Amino acid sequence: MSCTKNDQGGQRFLLPWPDKSGRHQLQVIEIKSLSSPYELSGPAAQVYLQSAFSSTGFVGEPAQPDLTLADGVFVPRDVNSSIGLVLYAHMERLLKLDQELGIHNALSWPRSLGFEILLHEKDSVKLEFNNARYFLDWDLISFLPTSNGNTPLAVNPGVIAHEHYHAHFNLRVLRKLPQHIRQSEIQSFNEGVILRGWNEGFSDYYGFVYSENADFVQMSLGDEEGVRRNLALKTPHVIRSAAHHSQLFNALMDAGESTAEVGYRVGTDVARVLYWLVEEAGENAPLKTHRDMLAFVTKSLEKIPEFYLTHVNDKKLEPASVLDLFFRSGEPILTQAQCDVLLDAVPYVFNKENLEGECLQP
Ligand SMILES: [Zn+2]
Repeated sequence: MSCTKNDQGGQRFLLPWPDKSGRHQLQVIEIKSLSSPYELSGPAAQVYLQSAFSSTGFVGEPAQPDLTLADGVFVPRDVNSSIGLVLYAHMERLLKLDQELGIHNALSWPRSLGFEILLHEKDSVKLEFNNARYFLDWDLISFLPTSNGNTPLAVNPGVIAHEHYHAHFNLRVLRKLPQHIRQSEIQSFNEGVILRGWNEGFSDYYGFVYSENADFVQMSLGDEEGVRRNLALKTPHVIRSAAHHSQLFNALMDAGESTAEVGYRVGTDVARVLYWLVEEAGENAPLKTHRDMLAFVTKSLEKIPEFYLTHVNDKKLEPASVLDLFFRSGEPILTQAQCDVLLDAVPYVFNKENLEGECLQP
């Protein structure tokens, strides 16, 4: 007789999992949808270890954890077994979150993920560490090995969720746009900073909503990056302008360096404002919880392609123009208190005149 399935049909595992303070501790975690605890394949995900991948996905079979059973709880016998199970467990919970938000149907399930994936740095023979990537052409996520001594990205709930959300942005936005030819400086900026920034910012916001930790980046990428991307930092929750970002972008371009960092800055600015729109929502706000906001934002992503294609060649788009697009192009959905957050955050885009009649009156 098996004593490993509990009443709900799940299996229990001893896994590193954040406690209330966000620190990882070994805890008994239930996984409901694996048909066998010895293979990381189920309706939520297929998880691969150290696999190569191509357009057809990861090569080989999903990872097979090495487990021992103690008092009805499966205990992983090595680190990779542990990480693989943590990844699956989070994907199971992300599927549930997407179902609750009503956004899961757009993606194909099970999702494909790999960890301890070996990749070379761009144009180099050096291996890359401490990174995670969503590959949009192949619709899969790769977690690279960890070398910085911090919490591995592949067990960080906010990071797993962040990578997962890139698939939503890809499907609702990037795949609706033609393949880009970056010719002008304006096009490069709009694609490399603005579109990338929105993608990163909404993914960080989703990562926060899932992990319930506005500072989830810190535990894997350290204090400096953590502070830069902490969504709950109150000051400044101001969205810096296109002209501001343009300076750094041009300097990096001239030096032949990656401009990715500029996109992250845009992303954090936008995500922080979403955070404070909910924190300061006021009474009777339709978007009162972070989940309400996330569902609204995800559905609103569909407005981006047409807007972007209309303006991509004219001018450097403002990072905050996406909020204008979401919150001013339909029925009023923000309370007056939330409109005040927008006025504070982006006074050069929003003003009393253009928000007139766009905010719900108490
Ligand atoms: Zn990202």
